Amino acid sequence: MKPVRVRIAPSPTGDPHVGTAYIALFNYVFARKEGGKFVLRIEDTDQSRARSDSEQMIYDALRWTGLSWDEGPDVGGPYGPYRQSERRDLYMSHVKMLLDNGSAYRCFCTEDRLAKLRVQQQAAKATLGYDRHCRDLDPKDGEARAAAGEACVIRLKVPLSGPIEFTDKLRGLVSRDAKEIDDQVLLKSDGMPTYHLANVVDDHLMEITHVIRAEEWISSTQKHVLLYQAFGWEQPVWIHMPLLRNTDKSKISKRKHPVSINYYRDIGILPQAFLNFLGLMGWSFGGDREKFTLEEMTEVFSWDRMSLGGPVFDLAKLTWLNEKYLHELSYEQLADTLVDWRLNRDYFLKVLPLVRERIKKLDEFVPATEYFFSGDLDYSAVMPKLAITGVAANDLKKALLDLVERFEARDGFAKEMLEEVARGWADANTWKHGDAFMVLRAAVTGRTASPPLFDVMAVLGKEITRRRLRRAAEVIGSGGKLKQ
Ligand code: GLU
Repeated sequence: MKPVRVRIAPSPTGDPHVGTAYIALFNYVFARKEGGKFVLRIEDTDQSRARSDSEQMIYDALRWTGLSWDEGPDVGGPYGPYRQSERRDLYMSHVKMLLDNGSAYRCFCTEDRLAKLRVQQQAAKATLGYDRHCRDLDPKDGEARAAAGEACVIRLKVPLSGPIEFTDKLRGLVSRDAKEIDDQVLLKSDGMPTYHLANVVDDHLMEITHVIRAEEWISSTQKHVLLYQAFGWEQPVWIHMPLLRNTDKSKISKRKHPVSINYYRDIGILPQAFLNFLGLMGWSFGGDREKFTLEEMTEVFSWDRMSLGGPVFDLAKLTWLNEKYLHELSYEQLADTLVDWRLNRDYFLKVLPLVRERIKKLDEFVPATEYFFSGDLDYSAVMPKLAITGVAANDLKKALLDLVERFEARDGFAKEMLEEVARGWADANTWKHGDAFMVLRAAVTGRTASPPLFDVMAVLGKEITRRRLRRAAEVIGSGGKLKQ
């Protein structure tokens, strides 16, 4: 038997997602249990979606949870490079193999042609997809046209019919008719691979034995199976984990509650409670035991304790578990934990420039800065300020949610960026800055007066700020009825 090698392959496209930690946990535990290796690979080939600060945030957030990896861009390893943008030559040479053995072809269709095709298909209410116009071009002609500089993509020759099947360790046989699958683009005209090509080539070259990823990738796996066949490679064991769900059973989403790992760190969830909580998602320790350490989970780990019934990411449960861990800490440990969290010199040095001129005696510090050290706020005292004259509550709610999106579309969380975005947002709504910023102040501080708003947001950080904005939006939308 080959030594177990597993991986997570996050794309650096935003904040580190709880789903990444979830999948990382199961990869980690399985690798440890089997004495195998756990690899972290960065899938950054989609440059249009890549975010410069995202890769480092992934490392930091996963390290905060207590997980570690044996190989990765930051720690090195024998199968590097572990960042896909540094592996372009490999994708090129591999796609060449597929052209040579006839399982892929060059497609010269222009964007314009594809757009027209889409319009025709829509008008005819036909299935959308590529019409395989270039599939039967003579490969020699294709090569000559490409050599002459004509832009092309490379597509996979997907069989025209017949079942595409694979066995999932948790789900059994998964089958789909090839008819439903388009001839996938493998290499884009700029020479960048698509997710499918890069993912399969890397999993093979990195000798990944088990692909453990979320259920949402199943439809990609069918394409990957075809690629493994086209290359003549042995497939890994496929394990598709259930999707995490909101309490209403919909797919976990930031609209329902925070999905960034950093949010949980920032509100003072203990990493051991966080991992334990993720370990309960679809997996059972045995009996009705709910509290266990990473080591204990590793010791008893097996896939047959997994169930697929849509695990619910329930904040109340997480808090319940966190309380248990917190109460177990000695006073010394708890003191250290609080210091590490926010009661430290570094954080004070961020807060003090904003409040020094507002206090006369030290005993005013805590009352003056309470909102720098808390999570959700009580808005009952500032309800009248969570409004703009003449603006319907629902419109204000929507606008606040839109502001959060505008912040999220930008890198970092510096006050200059925040101010620029917030001004643009107020202008777009034709609101006076003073009126709009008063709402933001009330939402972010729970007060009507505070140090400069954007400095406060920057110190509070992305997670707490956007949580408060979202929550204020909900409070406004509920007419103040939402439980404070
Ligand atoms: N890059 C994909 C992601 O962002 C990887 C999916 C997989 O594990 O294959 O999650």
